[in-house]
Amino acid sequence: MVDQKKPKPSHLREVGGDLLGVSRFLARKDPLSLLAEELGEKFVSYRQQWDLASSLDYLPPFPLQVDYELKTQCNLRCPICPHSQGLPPSGELDKDLALSLIKEGAQEGQLALGFGGLWEPLTSPHLAELIEVARSAGLIDAMLNTNGQLLTKERSKELIKAGLTRIMISVDAATPETYRKARPGGDYALLVENILGFLAVRQSLGQKLPILRLSFCVTRYNEGELSAFLAKWSELVEFFSIQSYGRFPGGSSSLFPKNRPFPKPGGICSQPRQRLLIRASGEVLPCCDLSGLGLGAELGLGRVPAKSLKEIWASEGLRDLRRRLMGPKDNWPNICQECQAKYQAA
Ligand code: SF4
Repeated sequence: MVDQKKPKPSHLREVGGDLLGVSRFLARKDPLSLLAEELGEKFVSYRQQWDLASSLDYLPPFPLQVDYELKTQCNLRCPICPHSQGLPPSGELDKDLALSLIKEGAQEGQLALGFGGLWEPLTSPHLAELIEVARSAGLIDAMLNTNGQLLTKERSKELIKAGLTRIMISVDAATPETYRKARPGGDYALLVENILGFLAVRQSLGQKLPILRLSFCVTRYNEGELSAFLAKWSELVEFFSIQSYGRFPGGSSSLFPKNRPFPKPGGICSQPRQRLLIRASGEVLPCCDLSGLGLGAELGLGRVPAKSLKEIWASEGLRDLRRRLMGPKDNWPNICQECQAKYQAA
């Protein structure tokens, strides 16, 4: 269900959502099938492990995915993001450290990596090199979350050639006026030009990857433009993520939309069984949700390179979190209780 008054284009169908019920995905064809067709058996096996970890039946010996925050720098000041409230910077991840972590991961069985974290990854000049090293070392899935403002044709070409498999661009609008409110500092015309430029470059290189996802985080500002957004892009991109605004600590509840894009979410969180997030400061977090910002410190996970990823994955702090998340909610860390609760608050 997307917009009851103006339904989604009929050739789009629901193809799942994320674990917490914060996002729902729409596509002409299941994006995971598209990726499996291009990437083969290793991708299928990785997704099977991911699903087993989601159902809490399996704990991989090393995180299946590691997400990197390369730089604490962003070119926009979006009200749905903690930066608009002055989230303190945490530096820049040293390139050699990132390379050694990627190599450690490849040796230990990691299969995916993502860039985005909490800031804009295209502000880092090292992105394509890190993706290329990761893919060459055997990682099968390389993902990028971006606001798309810096995605020139040259950057697109570099990223496609490096082996990026998925690119997720946040759009959140169908008009320049709404985009200015949703993504202050951004230029809607430039975004559209960059998305079309990316598609043209991918086609000119004869590539199907990376698949392109456009995202729309539904807020009070833009809820009336969701259908126009889908109609504009539905023939051009592989899939959509329709997200529910989740108020981060200090964020404004006035952004909650009048009409939620899907029914009450919330559920079991399996992120600490699947992934780790490395912040630019080296701090390690057990999830990629904005709510989890304080969780690494609370659990005593520590930082790289003082601790290895393997050591952190096996740490008592993470084992304790996994145990607690399988039990009653009132025994979860407060941060996790609030993380789940915030998506049910509207
Ligand atoms: S804060 Fe807790 S419940 Fe939320 S995503 Fe992170 S680990 Fe999961």
